[in-house]
Amino acid sequence: MNFLSQLTGCFAYPCAENPTVAMIEAAYRHHGLDWRYINCEIPPENLADAVRGARAMGWVGFNCSLPHKVAVIQHIDGLGESAAIMGAVNCVVRRGGKYIGENTDGKGFVESLREVVDPKGKTLVMFGAGGAARAIGVETALAGIKKITVVNRSPERGRELAELLSRKTPVAAEFVPWQGAFDVPQGIDIVVNATSIGLFPDVNARLALNLDTLHPGMVVADVIPNPPRTLLVRDAQARGCTVLDGLGMLVNQGVIGLKYWTGIDADAGVMRKKLEEIFGA
Ligand code: NDP
Repeated sequence: MNFLSQLTGCFAYPCAENPTVAMIEAAYRHHGLDWRYINCEIPPENLADAVRGARAMGWVGFNCSLPHKVAVIQHIDGLGESAAIMGAVNCVVRRGGKYIGENTDGKGFVESLREVVDPKGKTLVMFGAGGAARAIGVETALAGIKKITVVNRSPERGRELAELLSRKTPVAAEFVPWQGAFDVPQGIDIVVNATSIGLFPDVNARLALNLDTLHPGMVVADVIPNPPRTLLVRDAQARGCTVLDGLGMLVNQGVIGLKYWTGIDADAGVMRKKLEEIFGA
């Protein structure tokens, strides 16, 4: 590294092999930027020191993965609109010398969604009520989705997310407990799996969902990036739905982070290709 380099990275714990590193660094190389993206294993008790260290070293920004997404808020200087609603940050950006927390997961999802449908006025069923679901719920609501039905195994979490969406965004949100095979109601435009069902190595896990209620004309999206072609993606495609895999969301949150940090419009194709190499898509 020379003194022209700019530092960005991920504060992760535990520090697993991180495909985001390969994806972001592929973009830096492609665009001729002498920047680095470094994955750092930060135990929760060292998070404050890590943020202080990033400031001292002049980091332009960094991603946060679990369990730092909420805890990091007390160590930075402000929040973007959707991160404030969610109460979770996955991307910190240096603006005018201050570290501002953003959440790019949901924004990445909406960007992918816009490639196939305008979210404005549409109805959405979302399985899951964890961090990914919260990000997608808030951001699709801010993008103009008319109604969100949250379907979750744990009723407390599901109800809490539906209430948060109703209270803090313009969307009409409801919670439906997930009991047995779910029938997607008529008139739903978009179905999203925001649970971890189907994530490697549990690639044969299926959502409890009545596949006969999926129809051509619906958009079916999966957040699972590994493997990209989940059972849900394949089942929905076989029923004539328009499908979105989890790679699109992952690539787009990276593109948005790169825009925040560097100002460039990164080539999403280069980034997706790198992830496809890693996940064997
Ligand atoms: P959380 O642990 O916060 O939430 C997990 C969710 O999945 C909960 O709603 C949980 O339900 C549900 N769930 C898990 N297992 C089951 C099961 N067997 N049956 C029913 N429901 C289940 O995780 P995250 O929200 O952070 O992440 C979810 C997934 O999203 C991960 O696989 C992650 O890889 C992916 N993701 C993808 C991104 C991308 O860019 N493509 C970005 C961020 C995340 P309950 O509340 O009942 O426990």
